[in-house]
Amino acid sequence: ATPMSIMVGVGRGAQAGVLIRDAEALERLEKVDTVVLDKTGTLTSGKPEVVGVAAAAGFSDDEVLALAASVERASEHPLARAILDAAAARTLAVAAADGFDAPAGRGVSATVGGRAVLVGSAAFLGERGVDAGALAAEAEAFRARGATAVLVAVDGRLAGVLGVADAVRPEAAAVVRALKAAGLRVAMLTGDNAATARAIAGPLGIDEVLADVLPDAKAAAVERLKREGRVVAMAGDGVNDAPALALADVGIAMGTGTDIAMQSAGVTLLGGDLAGLLRARRLSKATMGNIR
Ligand code: ADP
Ligand code: MG
Repeated sequence: ATPMSIMVGVGRGAQAGVLIRDAEALERLEKVDTVVLDKTGTLTSGKPEVVGVAAAAGFSDDEVLALAASVERASEHPLARAILDAAAARTLAVAAADGFDAPAGRGVSATVGGRAVLVGSAAFLGERGVDAGALAAEAEAFRARGATAVLVAVDGRLAGVLGVADAVRPEAAAVVRALKAAGLRVAMLTGDNAATARAIAGPLGIDEVLADVLPDAKAAAVERLKREGRVVAMAGDGVNDAPALALADVGIAMGTGTDIAMQSAGVTLLGGDLAGLLRARRLSKATMGNIR
């Protein structure tokens, strides 16, 4: 492509809600054969809501939610926002927490009223020696409907599980269908558990699912696909996605996401409109003079 045609392509992109920061990304995009999509905030809206609470014996639903909210108050994770909103909706008192800790991709912990509270994934509670068996069926039911099961433990004992659901973006299914129809491989990459990930991926027609990927392993997953010889576009929104966006052949950030994701990506989709991915690809083909 000539510098002129690239300039025209960048201009057309801007009109179509596709901000191209890196002209090489525009050139590479037409060669992409694999699209990796982050789940939370990319395929979904990134505005999760608490859709259910189940308490273990000796705890009430409100108690579980209030304890979780007390710890999550210090967290910036989208799950934390959902839990605080749910506690506020029930006008629950949120207590002060000490010694807050947030191991990335696992959950949060703190001391609330002298009790040690853990809030997070089954893997996180498992690592801390909590037996979550008593609510395994409830957690699995949340996952089966595409919600994240957030477990709550008090002093080493399981207290409850929250189901937190994030709606799939309305355009996501059509975008995946179009990418697959064009012969591309589409994969989902997420820190969430495999059951939740599959419940979201299945109806979208995504059969390649990389779940339980810790934040610092997202880039390694993209690297692995590249080593297999694939030309990879990665779309994401979070701080955790930034290294993977930078490493992908084409990094695509959601305009609704974090600044660091946008700075790490060659392309940003304004308003987080996933359909911009298809427009960006068409633009790349037009720019490279390869329209068939
Ligand atoms: P994603 O790739 O979906 O954005 P993360 O890597 O941020 O996920 O987190 C992975 C998993 O760790 C979440 O699905 C959740 O189970 C758990 N987790 C992370 N942060 C929190 C938090 N603040 N509260 C509860 N659970 C959390
Ligand atoms: Mg995300």
